Amino acid sequence: MYKVIDGKALAAKMREDIKQKVQASGKNIGLAVVLVGDDPASQVYVRNKIKACGEVGIKSYAYRLDKDATQASVEELVKSLAEDNNVHGILVQLPMPPHIDSKKVLSHIPCKKDVDGFCAENIGKLCMNEDCLVACTPNGVMQMLASEGIELKGKNAVVVGRSNIVGKPMAMLLTNADATVTVCHSKTADLKQVCLNADVLVAAIGKAKFITADMVKEGAVVIDVGMDRDENGKLCGDVDFENVKEKCSYISPVPGGVGPMTITMLMYNTYLAAVRS
Ligand code: NAP
Repeated sequence: MYKVIDGKALAAKMREDIKQKVQASGKNIGLAVVLVGDDPASQVYVRNKIKACGEVGIKSYAYRLDKDATQASVEELVKSLAEDNNVHGILVQLPMPPHIDSKKVLSHIPCKKDVDGFCAENIGKLCMNEDCLVACTPNGVMQMLASEGIELKGKNAVVVGRSNIVGKPMAMLLTNADATVTVCHSKTADLKQVCLNADVLVAAIGKAKFITADMVKEGAVVIDVGMDRDENGKLCGDVDFENVKEKCSYISPVPGGVGPMTITMLMYNTYLAAVRS
């Protein structure tokens, strides 16, 4: 019998805890969110992040720039936020319009305000298992595993996806937790066979229902990071949930799994950045 890991409930519980921490800090904690252009999905993400700030008592500063904003104007904004003492965390919503060099923009976020945990210093520290601001989505996955008391030590963990924002930091966190980790990607030979060896399988691919029941070991823990659309345009994950669930000990759903945890970890990172400033 499988158990569904309720990311929404865990996120709500953690946000309550973060709210208490923010209050107890006695600080006016601020998060700046920069959105360039009018990508509908990005607008929803930014709205949700601003709403979450309100829930936990963090002040949000939203900067919405026109889709034609120049590279220089976006860089100037981020540089000014880097200097602003009211701002403890800076989040630049990706993707940005194609004419913007996002790497250059992100390079102006100081490591201590990098609440997304994307900069080379934070990634390097994570790799060395040192204290840092950890990328929100994989950190959210770790909280979900911990909330269910899932033991990782000595387990075979497979991460499908090697992006800098999900797959790679996920693999590092699982390694730091003493799992034996395999990272897969689009060039992996015999993906099915690798996945079948997973006690813990994390899917971060971006392809609807890509992980099918024949790829999952009996009793595995399956975490679905994907946020995709099915053939009817409905939100779904990278895992074929309905067919895979019966094989699992634990499985996370989409929606209501990793998604709410990502924003919660962003709130937590902003709190951490503020108390360490
Ligand atoms: P990404 O940058 O596009 O990376 C996708 C990864 O999947 C790549 O490493 C790619 O391999 C691999 N891949 C693609 N096709 C594959 C195949 N056929 N077999 C094996 N591996 C394959 O995506 P991302 O940013 O990591 O996001 C992944 C998914 O998570 C997306 O659905 C995204 O929307 C979702 N997401 C959700 C949250 C959340 O809060 N829930 C946050 C971030 C992302 P190559 O490297 O070889 O190309």
